[in-house]
Amino acid sequence: MTSLIFNRVTVLGSDGVCRPDCYVGVRDRHIVYIGDIPPVERFDEEIDGFGKVLTTGFVNAHTHIAKTLMRGYGEDMLLNDWLFHRIFPFEDKLTSEAVYWGSLLGIAEMLKTGTTSFSDMYFFCESTVRAVAQSGIKANIGRGISCFDESLRFSDLPAYRELCELIPIYHGANDGRVCIDVAPHAEYTTRPDILYDAAQLAAKHNLHMQVHVSETEEEHLACVGRHGKTPTGVLAETGVLAQPLTVAHGVYLTDGDRELLAEHRATVAHCPKSNLKLGSGVADIPALQRAGVAVAIGTDSAASNNALNMVEELRMAALLQKGLQRDPTVLPAETVWQTGTRVGALSQGRKDCGEVAVGYRADLVLWDTEVLLGSPLSEILYSGTAKVVLTMVDGKVLYRNGVFTTLDIEKIYHEAKRCAIEIENRK
Ligand SMILES: [Zn+2]
Repeated sequence: MTSLIFNRVTVLGSDGVCRPDCYVGVRDRHIVYIGDIPPVERFDEEIDGFGKVLTTGFVNAHTHIAKTLMRGYGEDMLLNDWLFHRIFPFEDKLTSEAVYWGSLLGIAEMLKTGTTSFSDMYFFCESTVRAVAQSGIKANIGRGISCFDESLRFSDLPAYRELCELIPIYHGANDGRVCIDVAPHAEYTTRPDILYDAAQLAAKHNLHMQVHVSETEEEHLACVGRHGKTPTGVLAETGVLAQPLTVAHGVYLTDGDRELLAEHRATVAHCPKSNLKLGSGVADIPALQRAGVAVAIGTDSAASNNALNMVEELRMAALLQKGLQRDPTVLPAETVWQTGTRVGALSQGRKDCGEVAVGYRADLVLWDTEVLLGSPLSEILYSGTAKVVLTMVDGKVLYRNGVFTTLDIEKIYHEAKRCAIEIENRK
């Protein structure tokens, strides 16, 4: 059992409220002490937190981590050109080895920028699980499900077989750091019977689900043409909404969709930068929040972002809405901070994560800030000048002063680059 205490640190809660000059004790995996005076009990290590800010880590609520291999691979292209001429041909040649190194590269970037947990949707999931276990980060790993062959049912798909293997071995593994999710890619890449069967599998094993919904107007309208219902309506009809669900994007939602999402307590993972870069549009976050829908934040993949930096994503989310609504009071810093931390943790089913409080998992980030009159929150969120000094997951320091404690970053970069070039050159 290891223990550590942050001395005289400013604590910034997930609600954006600051508490200066605190002592925060971590023992084993949990936060065990927060107070204005030093605790009586002893800790193995002391970290001087004077002039620094301690927060909970970010939860990246939607990404495809191994696509970090494809960062910068296809820029300024129309969505379908990008998908069919760059992304899909590359993915057709992916290997489990490439997914492993690509996942590690993405995880390193997230740890360096203060993310302690992420929700992923991809394939070769065992490789991502290995990368997560090795690094020490947390993740809900969703096996992406798609089907373009009318003759195949869900149980015929490789995704079904892979899920059946993954669930008993890895769901809840590493003391709950790894969770397996069921992740139909989208309405337009599956069918209602596949969605229904996927939801049944999730219900049987008590798993969370992830799905892309109404990312583009074209996708949204095509679904209405096919089924006489919106994508959210199809999810309701097939039982997907009845499961704990994270909906990625939600750029084109109707009032009825928002009511359904709120009624079923689904979370929308807002991915503003990817939606902008792919020219998809901007999700109406104030409307979602007015309807009572939980909103978390995701980066989507490094292929369409091109970063996995949650601070940048939160800032983009806040500034976009203020500008669009012509109202600087919209999506205040405290609200957007909560979306990137506690709401994200809850979307993953991690009730004991996403807060700096006694009894919670010690998923913590220590920031170096230079606050004069403003708040540490606005320094981190709006200025972008605060630096991550340390990232800890479940009480274990994984990144500190530019050094990864569990990862060989030089080797990861070298191997990821080798894999990407090999795939690109393969016929
Ligand atoms: Zn996505």
